[in-house]
Amino acid sequence: MDCIFCKIAEGTIPSRKVYEDDHVLAFHDIQPQAPVHLLVIPKKHVASLDDASPEDLELLGRAMLAAKQVARDAGLTDSGYRVVTNIGPDAGQVVFHLHLHVMGGEKLAGLNPKNSSESDTRPS
Ligand code: 5GP
Ligand code: ZN
Repeated sequence: MDCIFCKIAEGTIPSRKVYEDDHVLAFHDIQPQAPVHLLVIPKKHVASLDDASPEDLELLGRAMLAAKQVARDAGLTDSGYRVVTNIGPDAGQVVFHLHLHVMGGEKLAGLNPKNSSESDTRPS
């Protein structure tokens, strides 16, 4: 299978790792969209959250806890951060190996610009 994140997990493609255990790997995103932008992946190939099954329950929990840990190690705990996973075309998923984006280090834009404080036109 020609999966770039499987190759990163195997070590055949290099990455800037920040965390690794038997099940999960975390590394810097190659095109960061925030001052801190890390990716957490299960080493097992799962194409997206939509392809996860009940047998992946523990693996998903491990990935979430790894996201918390790498955020903590990056100093984001107090300022806050975002954990996101994209699923399919409308979400803009380009790598079809489940990954959690861990982003922070600045005030992040709202998920929906219409609801962000910058463009909130509701009367106060
Ligand atoms: P998606 O849009 O699929 O949720 O996000 C895929 C992410 O993987 C993007 O943020 C992209 O910059 C990152 N990415 C793609 N290829 C590589 C790579 O070879 N190495 C690393 N470190 N990140 C990658
Ligand atoms: Zn893969």
